[in-house]
Amino acid sequence: MSDTGGKIAVAEKSVSVEGADYSAAPLKPTKAIMDLWKRIHGDMRQEFGEAIFRSWLKPLVLQAYYHGTMEVSVPTRFMRDWIQNHYAERILEMCQQANEEVKRLQIVVVQNAIIDDFEMDGAVQTLANESSANENLKREIEEISSPLDARFKFENFVVGKPNALAHAAARRVVETDSIPFNPLFIYGGVGLGKTHLMHAIAHQIKEQSPEKTVMYLSAEKFMYQFVRALRANETINFKEVFRSVDVLMMDDIQFIAGKESTQEEFFHTFNALVDQNKQIIISADKSPSDLTGIDERLRSRLAWGLVADIHPTTYDLRLGILQSKRAQLEANVPDSVLEFLALKVTSNIREMEGALNRIVAHADVASQEITLESTQEVLQDLLRAHDRRITIDEIQRKVAEHFNLRLTDMHSSRRARNVARPRQIAMYLAKQLTSRSLPEIGRKFGGRDHTTVMHAVRKVEELIDADAQIAQDTDVIRRALTG
Ligand code: ADP
Ligand code: MG
Repeated sequence: MSDTGGKIAVAEKSVSVEGADYSAAPLKPTKAIMDLWKRIHGDMRQEFGEAIFRSWLKPLVLQAYYHGTMEVSVPTRFMRDWIQNHYAERILEMCQQANEEVKRLQIVVVQNAIIDDFEMDGAVQTLANESSANENLKREIEEISSPLDARFKFENFVVGKPNALAHAAARRVVETDSIPFNPLFIYGGVGLGKTHLMHAIAHQIKEQSPEKTVMYLSAEKFMYQFVRALRANETINFKEVFRSVDVLMMDDIQFIAGKESTQEEFFHTFNALVDQNKQIIISADKSPSDLTGIDERLRSRLAWGLVADIHPTTYDLRLGILQSKRAQLEANVPDSVLEFLALKVTSNIREMEGALNRIVAHADVASQEITLESTQEVLQDLLRAHDRRITIDEIQRKVAEHFNLRLTDMHSSRRARNVARPRQIAMYLAKQLTSRSLPEIGRKFGGRDHTTVMHAVRKVEELIDADAQIAQDTDVIRRALTG
């Protein structure tokens, strides 16, 4: 190694420099060097600007000077690397301009720096030793991390066709020691179990590897933390915390759509963690390619690992979840009520669970048995609100589709059986699935009289009992509409 030309060295400990003979302890800097450093340190504020100075350079402390090497310390490895890559060259130049004897700038990590009599103005030293620094990081991770719902565990997650892939992927993440895919990206509509699965992963990792640090938070919270750190000039700490986790889980990443600086920060965090082979798990309401408002390079990164979607629930899955929930609640709920809920409350699982909780609570308070009738009564508002979501137009379209008819056949006066029967089924479904009155329904079917509608409803009810084909057709269409 020649002493000519500036050289910037990196080392873990304060005395090791590649190849050279530094068996002698580094010298305490002379007064002249201390003064030089003091001046240069002050100049950095001017040179790099206040924000950079406060975030990165202020903590630099002169530790030693030997054979043309200025050895300065920072409290963390991450800071060292950052300064190394961004500012070290210029700092060395500044030192050399002031004193050409200086050949090298060595940045070292000193977590337990001793504040000596040559402590510089503004050179903040951390007194924490390594283990308590880790403890501090751990505590901060815990503080930022959102609490986990104790009920959202794997054992309470009912697996069915719509969520089988996401569930299998989640299990793989916790069951393998290596990182099976990075990131794991789970997406699906509201209330389909994304958060439940993420919490289940976090619970499981914490249980089987308590030494691991798991950061779980929503993208909204990530943004909030980031903005707060920016305002408080604490971005170094922010970066340090997020880059030190073993597992990063970010829920609902669609929230940072359009938030450019937050995305940028997340992108860097993401890359830093992937580089360190740390597991990342992300959820969203859409697939990476459909996440509008998210930067292209981030979107493509998000799709690097495994992308698992959760599909809308099926009747079977809804019933399975209700059965599991009934067992958890230890409530006496007849099967017919569960079936009714699985059929009626199809929009999302959260709402369906809410409905079950309500009827259980109501029965408890009123000291009544739960029956189909009491359920309908208790859930009146919910069911009505839900029914309103299906329109007569939709029903007509689905029925026409199912029977291979034109939509106009729903309004026409044709009486041929192959047209009239499906039309009656559509009227029946309109009565069942919407809150429209008979005259309203009649109007929607080419201005028919309400008695015609009533007749159709009765007729189809009879046929459902008597004719298996009609029962099946009606059921298929109903499920298509409600599922
Ligand atoms: P998302 O995050 O996709 O909006 P959540 O994970 O918050 O949805 O799920 C909503 C509710 O539904 C939660 O109470 C959750 O426990 C429940 N849930 C969702 N999927 C399942 C499932 N497969 N088994 C049991 N409960 C589920
Ligand atoms: Mg969620």
